[in-house]
Amino acid sequence: MTNAKKSSSPRDPFGASGSVTLVGAGPGDPDLLTLKAVRAIEAATVLLVDELVGDGVVALARPGTRVVHVGKRGGCRSTPQAFIEKLMITAAREGERVVRLKGGDPFIFGRGGEEVEHLRAAGICVSVVNGITAGLAAMGSLGVALTHRDHAHGVVFVTGHARPGHDFDWPALASVAHATRLTLVIYMGVRGVAEIERGLLRGLPADTPAVVVQHASLPLQRQVATRLGELAATVAREGLASPAVIVVGDVVSGLSAAQHELERWGAA
Ligand code: SAH
Repeated sequence: MTNAKKSSSPRDPFGASGSVTLVGAGPGDPDLLTLKAVRAIEAATVLLVDELVGDGVVALARPGTRVVHVGKRGGCRSTPQAFIEKLMITAAREGERVVRLKGGDPFIFGRGGEEVEHLRAAGICVSVVNGITAGLAAMGSLGVALTHRDHAHGVVFVTGHARPGHDFDWPALASVAHATRLTLVIYMGVRGVAEIERGLLRGLPADTPAVVVQHASLPLQRQVATRLGELAATVAREGLASPAVIVVGDVVSGLSAAQHELERWGAA
């Protein structure tokens, strides 16, 4: 038998010291973590934790793990992205097993792609563990299928918070969504909801069903169903705020039936 050294194969990417693993922490409920995510968190010696990662997820770290919160907490400013990347690179070079815990899935918004590029450019071994993204968790919790084939051909995950100087063409998206029957799942959209509504109304009917889901998967979860033409007014009236996803499309019309069932079973 050979006495081969344990290597970091794709099946065991976080066995190696001096590496970084981007781990999807899911929408907040620790029960929605993958087994692979739990193994990575338990193997970490350094944990860098994003703003929207649930406390129950961080609690899985072993005693002695260095935990650094790099998101906005308690009204503080978030840590600059360049600093977070430097921290990861330095810790990995010191031989730590670094886990970067990111809300939802690391590659759905949240700059996971940029982090991987920067780590690779610095010669750091990096791997990724998927997580359940907020939009999927939100609609799963409500029992509404994003691609119910009676209503939708597909689904679009889109950010409501464009990079400065990169204005988004909401009317174009709305026209395509209307013509080809796509469900829209809008992240980071509550702050700019008035502008989003105005843009979408140029391609979608005002009575298109919509729902806003705040704190998906957490005990605080709230959802308010409405219509596209009343979206901004509903957000304002109900005091809905981040973190929330906005889902627009005919699939949402199934919500009242699904909601009735959920209430009947005490899950809503
Ligand atoms: N990578 C994350 C998204 C990061 S962008 C993911 O895959 O889910 C941050 C946005 O995600 C928030 O502004 C909000 O729109 C959404 N979000 C994250 N957690 C959420 C939750 N528990 N409930 C509703 N929306 C959430």
